[in-house]
Amino acid sequence: MAENCLFCRIANGEIPAALVAESEDAVAFRDISPKAPTHILVIPRRHVDSVLGVDDPQLLGALLALATQVARDEGVAETGFRIVINTGPDGGQTVDHLHLHVLGRRRMNWPPG
Ligand code: 5GP
Ligand code: ZN
Repeated sequence: MAENCLFCRIANGEIPAALVAESEDAVAFRDISPKAPTHILVIPRRHVDSVLGVDDPQLLGALLALATQVARDEGVAETGFRIVINTGPDGGQTVDHLHLHVLGRRRMNWPPG
């Protein structure tokens, strides 16, 4: 666990969050400030700063597997959804613990903002 990392604290239950799914390596919970009617964050249990810090590609597989499970469970698999990984300042990353956004239940714009 990284010192003072918000998402490490959520992953280990120190800070409450609305959990929706869990796997051995990942945890999914509702974003506190949703940008779409369905907005869920999927994070690795162990601390990784960003997608640039991934040293084991299987971790990305585990994160995507939980993200698609969540999309099905939330009922957006049929209507469509978006998975986003913001990275660094220009990417809009505000929490330095890798997370996938799963967004759905509204029509997404392209190109993204
Ligand atoms: P980023 O901007 O780094 O891609 O995404 C960080 C996300 O974390 C934001 O969408 C923000 O609303 C969410 N977030 C920040 N603090 C908390 C929190 O304490 N609990 C939850 N559930 N989400 C949070
Ligand atoms: Zn962390």
